[in-house]
Amino acid sequence: MAYNSGNIFAKILRDEIPARRVAENKGAVAFYDIAPKAPAHVLVIPKGAYVTAEDFYANASAEEVKDFNDCFLEVLKVTKLSEKEGGEGYRILSNAGKNGRQEVPHFHIHILGGADLGGF
Ligand code: 5GP
Repeated sequence: MAYNSGNIFAKILRDEIPARRVAENKGAVAFYDIAPKAPAHVLVIPKGAYVTAEDFYANASAEEVKDFNDCFLEVLKVTKLSEKEGGEGYRILSNAGKNGRQEVPHFHIHILGGADLGGF
């Protein structure tokens, strides 16, 4: 699927709509989900134009991947979801395409936690 820069996360990246940011670096940004499915629900997105995880990991530069991974780790620290930071764990997932029910066509991972999330 071709990237469409009209998507809502592209608008957040362009500061056209607000988001409650948790962490940010040169290549990635993390912000709270507007409709949280857990007490803590954060999305991590690359700043580059990638539609899915497959698109990102196939086409992003090593620096972009590192920035994305660093942003993910920073979210775990800041939110204290990390067991190392005294948290009690979390779940990550990424929806892609029709069967994955992806709503926003800009690659993102969901980080969920803050309570027992139940079985998957
Ligand atoms: P997807 O189904 O694409 O994996 O999930 C997209 C997520 O983006 C949903 O959990 C939805 O609540 C969240 N979302 C949609 N629009 C906005 C928005 O304008 N701001 C924020 N912070 N999250 C949004």
